[in-house]
Amino acid sequence: MMPRSELSDVTALTRRLVAFDTINPPGRETEAMRYCAGLLESIGFDCHLISHGEGRSSLVAQRGPEGGLVFSGHLDTVPLGRAPWTHPPHEGRIEGDQLYGRGSSDMKGGIAAFLVAAARNASKTGTGVILTAGEETGCDGARWLAEAGRLPKTGALVVGESTDNQPLAGHKGALWLKLTAKGRTAHGATPELGVNAIATLSPTLARLCAYQPETFHPQMGRATCNLGTIRAGINVNSVPDLCELTVDLRSVEGISHAELTAEIAARCDAGIGIETLLDLASVWTDPENPWFAAAARSARGITGRQDSLSCATYFTDASILKPALGDPPVMILGPGGMDQPHGTDEYVRLSRLAEAVEIYAALIASAG
Ligand SMILES: [Zn+2]
Repeated sequence: MMPRSELSDVTALTRRLVAFDTINPPGRETEAMRYCAGLLESIGFDCHLISHGEGRSSLVAQRGPEGGLVFSGHLDTVPLGRAPWTHPPHEGRIEGDQLYGRGSSDMKGGIAAFLVAAARNASKTGTGVILTAGEETGCDGARWLAEAGRLPKTGALVVGESTDNQPLAGHKGALWLKLTAKGRTAHGATPELGVNAIATLSPTLARLCAYQPETFHPQMGRATCNLGTIRAGINVNSVPDLCELTVDLRSVEGISHAELTAEIAARCDAGIGIETLLDLASVWTDPENPWFAAAARSARGITGRQDSLSCATYFTDASILKPALGDPPVMILGPGGMDQPHGTDEYVRLSRLAEAVEIYAALIASAG
């Protein structure tokens, strides 16, 4: 089987992927997934498209035996935002070293680079690829794959999110909770006839204002708690019967989301409801892990850069994939710019794309 010609040019392939409108919502990743599956099949991968409904699907591809290196990336992008773009967002226009387009950095450039690297190592077996839908709305595609039991055995996972090709060892987790106090409405002139939900929540609110988790990780930093929104009442002359508070907890290695939820619950008065809005675990791989250390050394040998940074500021599909894959070591490394994701006039540097192909090719070649 001949590798398809698109697999010889990472710039052209990035432009081709950017041309698919996979803005999420609504997503519509299937066409782009089918295109990637065709490319992967031309270099010996068995491809399985898993549907998540109309126009939505994720792709699991494997070349040879499972248990080796797996690359993961998402094909959906965030919306364009309100500010006008000076470069058409799906044309992949090139100016100097920059290729512009929604998803160029986050993260179609990373996916293109891995596919080109896999084509360069066409005879190397034992490589897997997971391309997800719906990452930008909270890792939905990864969750659907995990729930469907469709993930391959994995020795090590590379997530191709934007890191300027720096090898990162993880990121914080995110746990968003909604706390609800209920009351009974009445006219504002006769408050004694009602139960004021603001008053009901107030002691809990005061306790949470004074709360920060104590867990500290030397590389990841501190777990944090932020009260994000509070909503109650319809008008000034009624007793509010509902008060809702949202809480944004960011976790690090050393504290689970069940433990964080328990810490919040311990500060809530009886009758306060707790609902989970988002639950994405932290991701961390010891940089001394033999695979991680060798892969990071190899990547730095190619970029010639020594990086002090070890964690991403954003979350990734690894929150879902790492536990679902049996806890392999994870490296986050991709050609996108760290300052690019979700911005207007998003671009990826052509020099970073070429560098990522070299890094991924070396990882594939040296994988067990
Ligand atoms: Zn991303």
